[in-house]
Amino acid sequence: MLSPKVVKLLNEQINKELYSAYLYLDMSNFYADKNLKGFANWYYVQTQEETAHAMIFRNYLLREGYKVELGAIDKPNVEFKELVDPLKEAYKHELYVTSTIHDIYAAAQEEKDFRTMSFVDWFIKEQAEEEDNANDLIQKFEMFGQDMKALYLLDADLGARVFTPPTLVI
Ligand code: MG
Repeated sequence: MLSPKVVKLLNEQINKELYSAYLYLDMSNFYADKNLKGFANWYYVQTQEETAHAMIFRNYLLREGYKVELGAIDKPNVEFKELVDPLKEAYKHELYVTSTIHDIYAAAQEEKDFRTMSFVDWFIKEQAEEEDNANDLIQKFEMFGQDMKALYLLDADLGARVFTPPTLVI
């Protein structure tokens, strides 16, 4: 049995993951507009990943016999000016998502809901990776972003990222 609080948090997480997908799509559009196709690709793949995260939460609720309730997805409300802006926003956003994942774990722990704790564990590890990737990109940009040749190479590097479905499937 999942508590109503845990079910509510899991439902809200579907919305948060879909908002993440929407935010990253906005970032992808920003870079596509600047003709930085590699950066655009990186965030497009990120959009696919976040959508997959939302489906994992959805599938977990369904498997456990709970109703999935979809809310409205907010418009991404961040204005990007400098090339580095989305990178910084992405890191900030991932820190926020980590906190919401931790909230679900804490609520499950309080209810001795070991199944949800075990389920959310995958996301706790995933968030460590997301934060690391986002922070790494800021560091790279700050080292090389001002040099046009280096920016070209970094863009080519990011262009090579392909979507691989998450290892957790429900
Ligand atoms: Mg996510």
